[in-house]
Amino acid sequence: MAKFPDPTSAWRAVLGRLQLEMPPAHFNTFLQPCVGHAWEGDRLVVAAGSSFVVSWLELPLHYAMAQEALAKTLGGGASAASIEYRALPGVAAAGGANPCDKATAPALIGAAATAPARAPIPSDYDLGGRRNRAGGYDWQSANAATCNPNYHFDNFVVGCSNQLAYHAARAVAENAGTGNDGSVNTDGADAGKADAGGYNYNPLLLYAGPGLGKTHLLHAIGNRALQQGRAVLYVTSEQFTNEFVSSVSKRTMRQFRDRYRSLDVLLLDDVQFLVGKEQTQESLFHTFNDLHQAGAQIVLTSDRAPQSINPLEERLRSRFQSGLLADIQPPSLELRLAILHAWAEARAVSLPSAVLEMIAQRVSSNVRVLQGAFNRIVAAARLLNLPAMTPEQAAAQLDAVAGPETPRPEITAEQVLQQTARRYRIDQAQILGRSRTAAVAEARQVAMYLLTDELGSTPTDAGRILAGRNHSTVIHGAGKIRAALAGGEERIVRAVGAVREALYA
Ligand code: ADP
Ligand code: MG
Repeated sequence: MAKFPDPTSAWRAVLGRLQLEMPPAHFNTFLQPCVGHAWEGDRLVVAAGSSFVVSWLELPLHYAMAQEALAKTLGGGASAASIEYRALPGVAAAGGANPCDKATAPALIGAAATAPARAPIPSDYDLGGRRNRAGGYDWQSANAATCNPNYHFDNFVVGCSNQLAYHAARAVAENAGTGNDGSVNTDGADAGKADAGGYNYNPLLLYAGPGLGKTHLLHAIGNRALQQGRAVLYVTSEQFTNEFVSSVSKRTMRQFRDRYRSLDVLLLDDVQFLVGKEQTQESLFHTFNDLHQAGAQIVLTSDRAPQSINPLEERLRSRFQSGLLADIQPPSLELRLAILHAWAEARAVSLPSAVLEMIAQRVSSNVRVLQGAFNRIVAAARLLNLPAMTPEQAAAQLDAVAGPETPRPEITAEQVLQQTARRYRIDQAQILGRSRTAAVAEARQVAMYLLTDELGSTPTDAGRILAGRNHSTVIHGAGKIRAALAGGEERIVRAVGAVREALYA
């Protein structure tokens, strides 16, 4: 196979290109652990850690991106070359196993997971100079109470939609407030790899819509850090605001500041609450700087991406963005089912699988709502003394509270074009046409995104629907919208949200 570079180098070159195009979390979790294994004719066989990873890599968009990177790597004359992913756990790097399996730390936090064990914390843990300034405040007993003992890592069920947040939270919990700056460096054996840079996990900002597990993870970090003898404080942004305002009115600002400065770990929930509260933002900015400088870990949650927290002082926003941002997406059907099974097991209730499936099918909005539905079914099963509840009986219980749920309608490409055009107040024909005006171009990209990501069309099919556009144009267009959504770009978030709403209305 002299016409191609050796498989390892060819794949490395592909990785080099992909790294620039993908969110680091995806790149590090799914792609980086893969290894260029062999050429079989014109096919580059790439070894992945598991069949799960293969199925992710083979999603049309991901596959097309890698394929395009390979074509670019090999130059014009080698357009016949293609990639074939295979699950070869022994060949792929250790981190490449199922990243949705919480037993396996993904490459993203490989360094944190395998970091040498720290010296045990002596039981008479000296509070150290920084903490003594707070007058030897007994954080252990004062703040154990602020962390909810029911929320820990072991009862957080991990799937693809929340794995980044989960693993980042774990990495932070293990390193929290150890005096390092929160960076997790892949040194040691991994040193010298092109992408073995340090990931800055301080602050960690978890963002997700309501009921997706932000507060749960925050408490889980807190409980773990408390176990390690750290000075931990969990506060909601509302409590922080109230404390600050009261310290101003009672002239106890110094105590307020000292209390916060003495922490190893600050867990601040729902920072979107700070919108418009300028004095509190200013105070948080200083608290943040004090803690960060002292090597304390800061973890924040928000119900939206930092770009969309408005108005927010720019310097505070840039602090929020300076570490790791990890989002949580709504759970898939599989994850909802796994969560229900975990709850049933934890509460030792033996609801038939068909009932759990019915709940998982019916409730897709968020985990808090799922919990409500689960609790109602458990209560009903007990009250009605129904050891073998049928899915119909369970559904009737849910109907009683919510009314029968209508199944999600099937949507068509035609409807996507129609609703996108309507949202942008343009003619459907313009989306298919050649106009490059800003609104039309954006509408077209939104259509590309919805066709591929919502309808599951391949880029080639989507290109055909869009009047014969090239698949790489679709990949590029859809990718731009995806990146804008991930970055919380308000206009796009609203537009895509509105089109979706219209599609499913
Ligand atoms: P948020 O803070 O994002 O609004 P919460 O952390 O309060 O959401 O989660 C709502 C409820 O759902 C909590 O009871 C939490 O324990 C539960 N929950 C959320 N995600 C998971 C998960 N992945 N596994 C188990 N329970 C979860
Ligand atoms: Mg919350």
